[in-house]
Amino acid sequence: MTNSVSPFIFEGLPVRGFLVQMKDTWTEILSRRRSNPETGEYPKPVRALLGEMTAAAVLLQSNIKFDGALILQIWGDGPLKVAVVEVQPDLRVRATAKVIGEVSEDMLLSQMINQHHGGRCSITYDPQSRRPGQQPYQGVVPLENDDGTSYERLSDILEHYMRRSEQLDTTMVLGADDVNCAGLLIQRMPIKGQDNLGGEQMEFEADALDQNEDYKRISILTASLSTHELLNLSSDKILHRLYWEEKLALHGSDGSQQLSPHFGCTCSRARVGAMIQNLGIEEAQSILSEREDIEVSCDFCGANYKFDAVDTAQLFKSSDPQPPSPNVLQ
Ligand SMILES: [Zn+2]
Repeated sequence: MTNSVSPFIFEGLPVRGFLVQMKDTWTEILSRRRSNPETGEYPKPVRALLGEMTAAAVLLQSNIKFDGALILQIWGDGPLKVAVVEVQPDLRVRATAKVIGEVSEDMLLSQMINQHHGGRCSITYDPQSRRPGQQPYQGVVPLENDDGTSYERLSDILEHYMRRSEQLDTTMVLGADDVNCAGLLIQRMPIKGQDNLGGEQMEFEADALDQNEDYKRISILTASLSTHELLNLSSDKILHRLYWEEKLALHGSDGSQQLSPHFGCTCSRARVGAMIQNLGIEEAQSILSEREDIEVSCDFCGANYKFDAVDTAQLFKSSDPQPPSPNVLQ
């Protein structure tokens, strides 16, 4: 399988993990960008970051099983303005990035997104059925530690996020090249005196950040995985190599269905129509006074939507307005 997520648990311990490896999904995202004549392909450091973000977002969605879109976003203050990955509950993935300046081949992460200490990373949980007026939940962290030292790895930024906003010990290894992107996540489970997935009743004394010795041991093993191994070995080999001395149980070995990540865009003509409705009739007509169509292309998949004067008039005549389209379609 070229796109897979493997969940696993450490029997009797408050620690679980996920391993994701993606080939088709990632190459599809890259090739759509490459074939967009307006943008061309991403510079190498942007491909590396976006690939790691894609793996991380699938890990986070698999971990939390959120009934809605999980959106991982980086807002840079350097040549990379924004990078976005969105993962639906069925692990449909789309990703895009906007580059506004020169990105050299060997540029550090901090030079790309945190030059002036203004970069941010956010994770948004956008529920599938939002009540009117309900806002999506969003957590935001800076791209540097408390001393103001910029992180040079996405995994450090996300571990920092998890500690700060979820109070959870998390270890991540992420990697991406031009063919594969992959990630390994280990998390201490936030439970005390409850069943863990192994089914044993346990009292965990060390249910606080940095306190659990089992977690620390597994975290050290996890961090020893190289990016090259992560991208090139099978999931079985990776798990065996890292944790052969631990009691590991693959989740889903009971026959439960595992979802596979896959590329898919949620853009549609109806959503673009709703965006035009949100502009208002005057703005829409002013665009049409200068050109034949209102033309919107999707940053995620490259699809192109055209609304001519007749289509646009139809939009504003409609007695049944579309709900406003959510966030990230720019
Ligand atoms: Zn699209």
